[in-house]
Amino acid sequence: MPQNYLNADLHCHSVVSDGTLTPEQLAQRAAARGVDLWALTDHDEVGGQHRAAAAANAAGIAYLTGTEISVTFADSTVHIVGLGFDADNAALTQGLYDTRHGRGPRAREMARQLEQAGIGGAYEGALRYAGNPELISRTHFARYLVEAGVCSDTYDVFRHYLTEGKPGYVGHTWASLKDAMQWITGAGGLAVIAHPARYDFSANLEYALFSEFKQLGGEGVEVVTGSHRPHEYQTYAGIAKEFGLAASRGSDFHSPEESQIDLGELPPLPSQLTPVWELLHERIQRP
Ligand code: AMP
Ligand code: MN
Ligand code: MN
Ligand code: MN
Repeated sequence: MPQNYLNADLHCHSVVSDGTLTPEQLAQRAAARGVDLWALTDHDEVGGQHRAAAAANAAGIAYLTGTEISVTFADSTVHIVGLGFDADNAALTQGLYDTRHGRGPRAREMARQLEQAGIGGAYEGALRYAGNPELISRTHFARYLVEAGVCSDTYDVFRHYLTEGKPGYVGHTWASLKDAMQWITGAGGLAVIAHPARYDFSANLEYALFSEFKQLGGEGVEVVTGSHRPHEYQTYAGIAKEFGLAASRGSDFHSPEESQIDLGELPPLPSQLTPVWELLHERIQRP
């Protein structure tokens, strides 16, 4: 480990979105696994932020506020992580509320497609996992399909259902990149492109995403994430340097049963990159 090494994990999900642990359970798990600086980044939600910060500090670790915003860019879904913002900012909370709003009707359409594929009860089943129609995501449907015995695990689900061209996939228009960036930066936060290797963009479109992101005030990109394969760390380290972006690190942990990478477990960022947390000193909530 490099000197002054900080085990930062700045991407994960709680029951406030599509994770299975509470913010308090995650804080304790992060602390127990050696995380020094943690952020909870629920999808389009900041409802867990005060609990997460309090639990992190109680467990002796530092905290940054976080969220992962669903964005539509060039007809595809892109995720933008916001870090270090004021979680009570009105424009941010309203923007996230509006972004979540379409999830209920989308879920009904997903269930209708699954019904046609011979799988009944999916809306009610997914809702039982989500607790609230506004929060229903594909992850909750995936849990129901496992419970119903349709698939053996959630990885199997995403191979046969819920992805483009498969039953239960319903395209959706999320926030615009411009709005999402404005909500994050307007609330004093720093915007990060989440898991860039996961998007099916041509080289031209990927360049357009990074250029537009940078122009809109974006400052970071996830390089080491549980959603990247190790060879992709180097690719995005290069892109971070090319675009003058700081680098982030996060497990994208959702559940002890479902996630292959646990909190705090990833390798360090490649050297010569500026970690995003160096740009966020004043926003870190310390115990
Ligand atoms: P949604 O926001 O409803 O489209 O759901 C997206 C969530 O589904 C992601 O945050 C992941 O948790 C999960 N997900 C999507 N695609 C996959 C996949 N191929 N494998 C595992 N999880 C996935
Ligand atoms: Mn998720
Ligand atoms: Mn994501
Ligand atoms: Mn995520």
